[in-house]
Amino acid sequence: MTQDQEIHLARIKNIFRDLADTKYRVGQAEHGGNLFDMASQDLLDNAINEAIDQVVYLLTLKDKQSETLQNQAESMFKVDDATRNCCVYCFKPLNDSWVQATRGAYHMDCYDKYLKSHEA
Ligand SMILES: [Zn+2]
Repeated sequence: MTQDQEIHLARIKNIFRDLADTKYRVGQAEHGGNLFDMASQDLLDNAINEAIDQVVYLLTLKDKQSETLQNQAESMFKVDDATRNCCVYCFKPLNDSWVQATRGAYHMDCYDKYLKSHEA
């Protein structure tokens, strides 16, 4: 494994340890009894219900992410409209030689200056 992979694994293990500890303790406080005494059929039913919840959460998250992406795309389009005729670097009108970047439209020369100013 690479060092980056080891660091990633250690981070995941730490997060999981904390989440599992908290969830177990909250579950004990809410439900009482011993999880390890629960009947096998009840463990299976609970696991299936948790799996269903997980899919519902994941699909909801997927919906929200696609909404977010759509909103970002729409707001970029609005920004493009608002700044279509103006360079966001020098604020002068665009000529025939301009480039569209993530944060708006630039003269080609201004975009080069912008990139150089962010290289260091
Ligand atoms: Zn410019």
